[in-house]
Amino acid sequence: MKKYVFLLILITFIFIGFIFYVYKDDITKLLDNNKEDNPITEKKPDPYEDYKKIPYFKLENLNRYLAYEEKNKDLTKEQIITNVNIGLDYDFYSYIHDTDMSYGNLILCNKYLKLKSDYEPNDLEQIDSKYFISGNPNVRQMRKEAKEAFEMLSEASIKAGFPVYGQSAYRGYDQQEKLYNNAVSTMGKDAADNDTARPGHSEHQTGLTIDVSSTKSGNMLSFHKTSSYTWMCDNAYKYGFILRYPKDYEKIHGFVYESWHYRYVGIEVATDMHDNYPNLTFDEYYYRFIEK
Ligand SMILES: [Zn+2]
Repeated sequence: MKKYVFLLILITFIFIGFIFYVYKDDITKLLDNNKEDNPITEKKPDPYEDYKKIPYFKLENLNRYLAYEEKNKDLTKEQIITNVNIGLDYDFYSYIHDTDMSYGNLILCNKYLKLKSDYEPNDLEQIDSKYFISGNPNVRQMRKEAKEAFEMLSEASIKAGFPVYGQSAYRGYDQQEKLYNNAVSTMGKDAADNDTARPGHSEHQTGLTIDVSSTKSGNMLSFHKTSSYTWMCDNAYKYGFILRYPKDYEKIHGFVYESWHYRYVGIEVATDMHDNYPNLTFDEYYYRFIEK
């Protein structure tokens, strides 16, 4: 009996195999048709795939990326995402948030991210007068780590024969407010906004920033013409400082080119920016590599 059952199964298999062999073209066609009709198995290309591959892409900004791309067709996807993440699809000072203070030496303060009016670093220290222009004692402080780094930088620059002295470092909110109001009354609001940060938006309030000169009497506005400036271009990063408002990037950082304004970010980031990303402002670098 078992023998017959086995034979029957064998014959059935051979028969099915034969049918498949004879109608194999029709069967594959039928399966392919089914695939096309079935929306579950069909794979539609994702129009935003290129965006989503970029690590600093934010889903909540997708519509803003697309609108910005429409107006800036010459920009790469990386630039579009970076610019929108900064807030550049809005006018300066029209899309403002509190900055995330947990980034320590890497906090970003610009025309979109502000510091609270009562923020004052708790580790401010006076810079040695040897490394500062004469006078100006009320703006001679920086946060401890930045202050120590600046003193080392200044010492090295003096030894090299290209002296770099501090001219203006920490400024509190109220000090910045006076400075800004002064600028508005002398040059008008638009020019003042290109020149002087509004209170809460000044990096000087972080205690991580310093304006520099090459002479003890102070010459920061013509610093770019001095050999001390060239020395800074080659050496500032070794002490953790970056040029914060470089030339030709005014539309990104929002200020006039300031050859004298340096920001402490620590040696690791300053070196990475100097070696690998010399064409990125700190605003761009922040949104690509720092922000989590
Ligand atoms: Zn400055």
